[in-house]
Amino acid sequence: MSGTMPERLDRFMARANAAYYAGRDPFADFVTAPEISQMFGEILGAWVAITWQGMGRPDPFILAEAGPGRGTLMADMTRLLARVAPDCHAAARVHLVETSPRLREVQRAALAGRTAQPVAWHDRIEALSDGPVILLANEFLDALPIRQFVRTGAGWSERFVDGVGFVALPAGDLPEGPFDRPVPEGEILECCPEALAVARGLAARFARSPGTALFIDYGYDGALWGDTLQALRDGQPAWPLADPGLADLTAHVDFAALARAAAGAACHGSVTQGALLAGLGLFARAEQLARNRPPVEAHAIHDAAQRLAAPDRMGRLFKALAITSPGLPAPPGFAVEPAGGDVR
Ligand code: SAH
Repeated sequence: MSGTMPERLDRFMARANAAYYAGRDPFADFVTAPEISQMFGEILGAWVAITWQGMGRPDPFILAEAGPGRGTLMADMTRLLARVAPDCHAAARVHLVETSPRLREVQRAALAGRTAQPVAWHDRIEALSDGPVILLANEFLDALPIRQFVRTGAGWSERFVDGVGFVALPAGDLPEGPFDRPVPEGEILECCPEALAVARGLAARFARSPGTALFIDYGYDGALWGDTLQALRDGQPAWPLADPGLADLTAHVDFAALARAAAGAACHGSVTQGALLAGLGLFARAEQLARNRPPVEAHAIHDAAQRLAAPDRMGRLFKALAITSPGLPAPPGFAVEPAGGDVR
């Protein structure tokens, strides 16, 4: 007995992650794609330039990132744009969506001198002003709070946190979610209302003014279910309900639910991160960077490309979904086989 009321899982997760991102250096606990290699941001910088062309070269346009972490992705993208697409770089107004004051300072330092106009920060994607936008988010959605429902004979119950354990209580009103999936009795179905609200909000925005969003995250695509809540503390897997604020809590992203919530907009993918990056020229870029380098450095560059794209590393578990205004051309890198389901 904990002596306090059970807390709904999403409320617990929101509280824990707000404390975690405000107080810790998350990058001590996990390594993200932009931190593995500058190639990730360079490839996505090229993706931005081509996407901007396809949108009719709007000037100005909002170049936004949600959950920018250390600012590495945006720094690498803007460096690439300044070099190979100066018109796009000059038109870009960089807006970052970040709740952690500490990480905002890290991002400010990373982007100093890299943008044509001062960078602006917001707490929520919905706060981005109207107008043409290209939004990217890498490992952002996985940090948003999830709810977990358990299929019972009679319907659904919902998981609450009670002390350091779970209790399942009869579910009240069900949120928007993929409750039509054939989940066997006793199994868990997750939904992430904030992620679905983001997708719904972008679809509405993209109906009013031209926009493209790219979400990259680990997750699954298909009518799947299962418990994917996980915690990393000091770089090690940990029990998610112990010591809120000291571990990074994430859940796999449900790309099928996300695409469904974006109804009205055009969705492309999901495709695997490996297919996306390979299609956008990752391995050619690695070749180019490795040329004339000492063997140890050249090997490290090729290994980073493999780490990002190989199926048994980040290439398959990580997926990308693009959401665009109806009528825009498919963004580059999406004319490949859909990712399909995944291991649960
Ligand atoms: N995209 C970065 C960082 C991923 S970590 C990278 O790839 O390295 C998740 C990021 O999202 C952090 O910057 C964190 O502070 C931010 N974040 C988490 N929850 C958020 C929320 N609800 N609103 C805005 N930002 C959030």
